[in-house]
Amino acid sequence: RPSRNSHAVPGRVRVAVRLRPRNSEEMVADADFADCVEVQPELKRLKLRRNNWDADTYEFDEVLTEFASQKRVYEVVAKPVVESVLDGCNGTVMAYGQTGTGKTFTLGRLGDGDASDRGIMVRSMEDIFADLSLDTDSVTVSYLQLYMETLQDLLNPANDNIPIVEDPRNGDVSMPGATLVEITDQQSFLELLRVGEANRVAANTKLNTESSRSHAILMVHIKRSVLESEDIVSTQNGDASHLTKPSKPLVRKSKLVVVDLAGSERVHKSGSEGHMLEEAKSINLSLSSLGKCINALAENNAHVPFRDSKLTRMLRDSFGGTARTSLIVTIGPSPRHRGETSSTILFGQRAM
Ligand code: ADP
Ligand code: MG
Repeated sequence: RPSRNSHAVPGRVRVAVRLRPRNSEEMVADADFADCVEVQPELKRLKLRRNNWDADTYEFDEVLTEFASQKRVYEVVAKPVVESVLDGCNGTVMAYGQTGTGKTFTLGRLGDGDASDRGIMVRSMEDIFADLSLDTDSVTVSYLQLYMETLQDLLNPANDNIPIVEDPRNGDVSMPGATLVEITDQQSFLELLRVGEANRVAANTKLNTESSRSHAILMVHIKRSVLESEDIVSTQNGDASHLTKPSKPLVRKSKLVVVDLAGSERVHKSGSEGHMLEEAKSINLSLSSLGKCINALAENNAHVPFRDSKLTRMLRDSFGGTARTSLIVTIGPSPRHRGETSSTILFGQRAM
């Protein structure tokens, strides 16, 4: 299917694919084998090898090679979304892919050791701070984890049954009871991310599970003061005179949602029993219903099945419609994971 120009189709999800470099284990273990993918970034194409002779070719909105910097990934995947959030629209950035392919690297890196490592969450907040004036505007953040259709507050883990409420008047989605922290500088945001991550690890240790089985959801709420009527300045005869009617400040709200999705490999794990089976089913439910919503948007369907899972219910007001949405699918080069890589690529393709 030819890929459509995302800017021409409002509400459509923009899809980028990012290839992670071989890790040290793969360098050794796969030394005699070629990567299962070949990237052609100028053509925005990616080839997935079937065997030594044949490959399937896929087109994406953006193809990010193993050499793509975090800065470039931010600029391509997230910056347009952040800009539209600063203009008053809601927006979502999500990472989808097999565990170990770089979702958290792409979204959540703090850049403690090396500032060039900073991921999408940190870079987004930098751009937000650069644009807001904190004397009149505000930023509040919540950080949540969704595991087996249960929503937990990563900033207050005891709060582990948060409801999702939709306002029937305007469709706004809220999570009553979730901690909302006002952020006034980058340092306190980094601290919040650290606390959230530590709580995520602790909560998952308690549940005897891994972070890769839950979705982590960062919500950044922005309130901006805007004037109802902009100043109209007349420069006739060279002297500037203001023709503004008395204007009262309005508050404009928008939000940016960043979602580090559960590892996509869980969807295909079969043969599980008991709790593992329930877990697989619930990850399957949220990722497949996310896929269905993305497809419905891509096909311009009147009905988008947001109601089917908590993940999609949470995203409802920041996904499709006037919201800008970016999906980054992350893949690894290893021929051993060709099957997972193929299904990740197909998930991304169905979104286009
Ligand atoms: P996921 O969140 O998808 O499970 P991670 O982000 O934890 O994967 O990445 C797995 C490992 O690969 C980490 O050690 C990470 O630092 C490394 N990694 C991921 N993507 C890249 C990349 N583009 N460049 C260098 N290292 C990467
Ligand atoms: Mg991760």
